[in-house]
Amino acid sequence: MDTEAKLALVSDQMHLEPAEETGVAGRVVAPCGFAPDELRNVVESGAASSALEAKKNSLGLYDAAMPNGKRMTMLKTLLTSACERDCYYCPFRAKRNYRRATFKPEEMAQAFHQMFDAGMAQGLFLSSGVAGGGVRTQDRLIATAEILRRKLNYTGYLHLKIMPGAEREQVFRAMQLADRISINLEAPNANRLTALAPHKNFAEELLRPLQWVEEIRKSQPARLGWNGRWPSTVTQFVVGAVGENDVEILSTSAYLIQQLRLTRTYYSAFSPVPDTPFDNHAPENPWREHRLYQASFLLRDYQFEMEEMPFNRDGNLPLEVDPKMAWARAHLTEHPTEVNRAERNELLRIPGIGPKGADAILSARRRGHLHDWRDLEKLGIAAARAAPFVLLDGKRPPHQLSLWPA
Ligand code: SF4
Repeated sequence: MDTEAKLALVSDQMHLEPAEETGVAGRVVAPCGFAPDELRNVVESGAASSALEAKKNSLGLYDAAMPNGKRMTMLKTLLTSACERDCYYCPFRAKRNYRRATFKPEEMAQAFHQMFDAGMAQGLFLSSGVAGGGVRTQDRLIATAEILRRKLNYTGYLHLKIMPGAEREQVFRAMQLADRISINLEAPNANRLTALAPHKNFAEELLRPLQWVEEIRKSQPARLGWNGRWPSTVTQFVVGAVGENDVEILSTSAYLIQQLRLTRTYYSAFSPVPDTPFDNHAPENPWREHRLYQASFLLRDYQFEMEEMPFNRDGNLPLEVDPKMAWARAHLTEHPTEVNRAERNELLRIPGIGPKGADAILSARRRGHLHDWRDLEKLGIAAARAAPFVLLDGKRPPHQLSLWPA
């Protein structure tokens, strides 16, 4: 099998794996198998077809927004799509009838580096099915990263997956090679994981490595990390497959964000995969995934505590309203916040005001009192959204803020 065919096999389904903010590319990127001239003809003729786009995605190439806001084309792929585990939701599970492919570390490193040299990909997200145990699989992932960094002098973006059961030394080595590492918890606690992936051990195989990452970051100098920095850490939860509620997911998310300093917790609304034990389960409502993201940002960036989340009696967030708006309606409608006196954490609780807006208000207040609603709009505040919950100089806003001239 040639490299392109193998890449297509291992990269199949990688759109299901959130790693960076990947989406449909807004520009054309040359996938493997398209000679540069062929690509140029496609672009110049304006016939950047959906077939080209589909081919690009089939090889695992996705346009991604990086943590620093820059966009790049990322190869999201697997070292092997063979797996000895049997997680009930996963397309790569052992008992599924599915054509697999495996790369050797040198072969994968060379394949990606050729794509990098040709301008087809600027970053790599490398994961793997588990083959021969978590430790051996992790060794092969690290070997691939070592070849890229040491032999091929690749200095670009690298996101490495940590395998269930990897050892502490391997986590440390991965942290010295990668810009980002991830360990997917999949479920918020051991009981839910047993229902989702019966042969994974929540505490020892998944949570423990995430704790090691933070222990290493705290105890070892950052100069030992790649480019003198420790990598960021992310995880993912499968949402809605085994009856867990949002309290469970967000309690674990709060621990990960606030205690282990994860950059991001990803949520993936369950969608049944044919030929798996869950193939007749109903898919989860995508709005639930969206509300969980909003709530996780409140925990990470808005200084909200779990106790403040507007859960329904069943322990889930309301789907019809964003959690910050639900909190504000319950707490600020009768007791609006005075913009000229509020602390930063109080400003952050007002709909329409984010971290940048709160800082802009504090900075503007140092220059003088805020009297005019139009001043708030100039500071980037969504004033119409904030209006029901605030006072400015002791006054309620006029009714039709949106009709005001800019
Ligand atoms: S270990 Fe990973 S690749 Fe293997 S079945 Fe489970 S989720 Fe899928």
